[in-house]
Amino acid sequence: MSDTSPPRIIACPACGKATAFAASNRWRPFCSERCRTGDLGAWSDESYRIPASPNEEEPGKTPDDPPIG
Ligand SMILES: [Zn+2]
Repeated sequence: MSDTSPPRIIACPACGKATAFAASNRWRPFCSERCRTGDLGAWSDESYRIPASPNEEEPGKTPDDPPIG
């Protein structure tokens, strides 16, 4: 007789996908790295961008030509 039992199948806490809760599953109890890190909603965070200042003007700065001679 062998004590090898089939891996327990559980539902991924993140997406609910059936995954094996075994030592071979490194992301257990999740199904994948994405579910483990939980960055499912991090896709739309790229829209948070602050527009840079159009142009910086320094008051009192005048272009002076070097004396030629
Ligand atoms: Zn999952």
